[in-house]
Amino acid sequence: MTRAPSPSLLAALAQLLGPKGYTTDTDAMAPWLTDWRGKYSGRSAAMLSPASTAEVAAAVRLCADAEVALVPQGGNSGMVGGATPDAGGDQLLLSLRRMNRVRSVDTAAQIAVAEAGVILETFHHEALAHGLRFPLTLGGKGSATIGGLVSTNAGGTQVLRHGTMRALVAGIEAVLPDGSIFDGLAPLKKDNRGYDLRHLLCGAEGTLGIVTAASLHLVPAAAARRTAWIAIDSPARALLLLRRLDASIGRELEGFEIVPHACLDAVLRHIPQTRAPIAAAHPWYVLAELAGKSDQALGGALERELAAALDTGLIRDVVIAKNDRESEDFWRLRDSISEAERAEGPALQHDVSVPVDLMPTFIAENPARLKQAFPGARALSFGHLGDGNVHHHVQPPVGADGAAWLAAHGAAVSRLVYAHVIELGGSLSAEHGIGQMKRAIMAELDSPARLAALRAIKAGLDPAGIFNPGKLID
Ligand SMILES: Cc1cc2nc3c(=O)[nH]c(=O)nc-3n(C[C@H](O)[C@H](O)[C@H](O)COP(=O)(O)OP(=O)(O)OC[C@H]3O[C@@H](n4cnc5c(N)ncnc54)[C@H](O)[C@@H]3O)c2cc1C
Repeated sequence: MTRAPSPSLLAALAQLLGPKGYTTDTDAMAPWLTDWRGKYSGRSAAMLSPASTAEVAAAVRLCADAEVALVPQGGNSGMVGGATPDAGGDQLLLSLRRMNRVRSVDTAAQIAVAEAGVILETFHHEALAHGLRFPLTLGGKGSATIGGLVSTNAGGTQVLRHGTMRALVAGIEAVLPDGSIFDGLAPLKKDNRGYDLRHLLCGAEGTLGIVTAASLHLVPAAAARRTAWIAIDSPARALLLLRRLDASIGRELEGFEIVPHACLDAVLRHIPQTRAPIAAAHPWYVLAELAGKSDQALGGALERELAAALDTGLIRDVVIAKNDRESEDFWRLRDSISEAERAEGPALQHDVSVPVDLMPTFIAENPARLKQAFPGARALSFGHLGDGNVHHHVQPPVGADGAAWLAAHGAAVSRLVYAHVIELGGSLSAEHGIGQMKRAIMAELDSPARLAALRAIKAGLDPAGIFNPGKLID
């Protein structure tokens, strides 16, 4: 059990961090006490905003001695309430946003060291300024930070080729629960000294360490790309198309996202200045992207494959972006789905993965199971088909009082979805993490051996439980 912060602890933290690094102002803290979806709200006695690793370590030491809980936070764009303190007011918010320096970019080694608070979009620009690219992107790139991306092991739309955050992390610097600093920034290709703390901290959701900086792999800036918006009958056909593109194009294929018509329709209704690339309505769309060194290197492969797919009737229609601007417009449609869906009203979000080949089965069968158990329930799946990961959202029946319906049925709906995912050998969190949203359901449905190992790791590293209590694991 952690304790309430005493006036003397708060005074010591205020003195350590100075006026820019410490606030109890309720207006200043308010935007950071509710999560992006507006599902979780909390209270905090103070928000700490250290400017250096040494300040983080000193603040953690003070809180560790007093057994006071800390909730690390980056851009607060997380989807599972992981960065929101509880309602008690005793947990202190630890914002990493002031640690926003890119410490170095080594163009020869293609490695950059970025502090935890660097915003993903800013980091993209920094890499590009050096002729390089950070190959991870997602809809929340304007607010998500490097520390948050590491701590959620974020995915996004380029995982197909470059992997999740874990694959891009070459080293980590973090403050551990006793206030000691783990300096693992050296980008070692080989390091077999036992358990890999770097991997352990990726996806730990702030429960094992405060990430203060990371060494990150970069790739050469793509000089050419081809982006296609494809109309198609079903996810099963989309998977066939993916297999064909994989076989003929291979590594250059960087993104492969599916979007049902209802999601496109919501984006067109809620997001200004958006336009359907194909005028006629089709049941599903695929957004596919190739990136390569030059136009020559890409060599018209996508055009050839898609023309053949049109001829054989595998796809219904296709538009290839004529320039970067059009390509950005296509991606904006995909990246705005979460925002449009938020504007649609209350829904239950499930970020799930199953083996790639089984994803069409899940997308086809789960809505039918839901409708049978909860008449009128509407399910929508969109996202990273190529990774076997979709965001599966369940909306209340048309005309129902959404909030009341979710209060009555939400838990049972989610249990049905997750049970189906587990039946297919999948995971109840593909990329968003567990946070507070999925903690109870994971404890209920996950393997006892895996849960026991996770609990033992947490208890070993953070015996007083001061880092992000109430999240991920008890
Ligand atoms: C429109 C939109 C689209 C999105 N699309 C995707 C997507 O495609 N794929 C995907 O994976 N995610 C996606 N996300 C979710 C979100 O952007 C990611 O989870 C991101 O990694 C969160 O970063 P953050 O800095 O906002 O972290 P926060 O939300 O502040 O925190 C997330 C978690 O990390 C912990 N944390 C934050 N910083 C640190 C730190 N320095 N040290 C230790 N722990 C820390 C927090 O305690 C919390 O548990 C999307 C979000 C939005 C808003």
